[in-house]
Amino acid sequence: MAENTGVVFLGQNKVEVQSIDFPKLELQDGPGVHPDNVGRKTEHGVILKIVSTNICGSDQHMVRGRTTAPAGLILGHEITGEVIEAGPGVEFIKEGDLVSVPFNIACGRCRNCKERKTGICLYTNPERPGAAYGYVDMGGWPGGQAEYVMVPYADFNCLKFRDKDQAMEKILDLTMLSDIFPTGYHGCVTAGVTTGSSVYVAGAGPVGLAAAHSAQLLGAAVVIVGDLIPERLEQARSFGCETIDVSKGDPQDQIAELLGAPEVDSGVDAVGFEARGHGEHADEELPATVLNSLMNITRAGGALGIPGLYVTGDPGAKTDAAKEGSLSIRIGLGWAKSHTFATGQCPVMKYHRGLMEDILNDRCQIAKAVNATVISLDDAPEGYDNFDHGAARKYVLNPHGLINA
Ligand code: NAD
Ligand code: ZN
Ligand code: ZN
Repeated sequence: MAENTGVVFLGQNKVEVQSIDFPKLELQDGPGVHPDNVGRKTEHGVILKIVSTNICGSDQHMVRGRTTAPAGLILGHEITGEVIEAGPGVEFIKEGDLVSVPFNIACGRCRNCKERKTGICLYTNPERPGAAYGYVDMGGWPGGQAEYVMVPYADFNCLKFRDKDQAMEKILDLTMLSDIFPTGYHGCVTAGVTTGSSVYVAGAGPVGLAAAHSAQLLGAAVVIVGDLIPERLEQARSFGCETIDVSKGDPQDQIAELLGAPEVDSGVDAVGFEARGHGEHADEELPATVLNSLMNITRAGGALGIPGLYVTGDPGAKTDAAKEGSLSIRIGLGWAKSHTFATGQCPVMKYHRGLMEDILNDRCQIAKAVNATVISLDDAPEGYDNFDHGAARKYVLNPHGLINA
């Protein structure tokens, strides 16, 4: 039997590269696999030899012990790879195709998929709507920070690159199509970003930077990015964003200084529930900080795009309420300002084709914006550690050495 290697979550702050099962066209029992998903046949799936697979802030929530992720989970939901086997039910994706895989696993058959809400597919996770590779509560589908992975419903999920050589030349950009580029873009679209918009993006991690670059693509007049890590703010300035250091005080005051008015048209939360406080509270975790400050900052009638993750179970939270995802949100303010809120997993498939075309036609520089950095699969634990310590980088794993670093 062929060999496989993957990044395994072993417990808080512990990931290891281990030998793992070679994927089959059937979902095997394993950590986090819902009993109703065990033995599920996936003739509609393909096996991929993974070309690139990225480490994400979403993975960090699990690795930091801030979710109920089970030990033994194979991590990784940002997958690009070459098809080495197609199941008998796959019609159009072929062996040899190089494809981008949305991190959402979607069936293409349920009511939500038919409405293009692929982040809340009804049939891929018996526990709740929405599935993903290598993620807690997402159905138990093995992750793709590995050499090989199985992708179900391949005709629906895979985005094929039409020219493999051209794609390999731009692989560091294209690898961002599986999650953060569509996610940042979705954050901006749902925040109503358009020509002439002023935008505040909270968070200068890869998702915040992808949102900031997306805001530029959508025609924003001013893009302001906030964080408290100087290197990450520097990275945002490197492609033309204004920045504010939230550890120096309330972002609203700094926005007023930059724009001459204390508000923006659109607010994007690219932080989520592990948010730090502002100013003198920057050393503390205050999970509702970003949501409440975006309501202050966003103009009446504006919208908040919220790709930042909020969980239903957080064993590491400080209060009992926060342990089950209840935060102290000033909804009265949002109501008074008629704000629109958009939450949830990004439905990647809505955006990945268009963003692929922009990449292939040199209309955007996403790899540069997020500082894509290639490391080997074996170095994944170090990548996790550096990323956790705030490196201004998006780590891209190179399991078969196919990326020319
Ligand atoms: P990240 O952890 O690298 O970035 C978060 C950044 O927020 C950090 O740089 C941190 O210093 C900063 N931060 C903390 N408190 C802040 C505050 N009050 N104001 C401004 N910045 C603050 O993670 P990432 O990979 O960039 O992902 C960002 C979020 O998006 C995570 O919660 C992740 O789970 C989520 N995510 C969601 C989706 C989706 O589909 N909705 C997809 C991918 C990632
Ligand atoms: Zn991700
Ligand atoms: Zn579905």
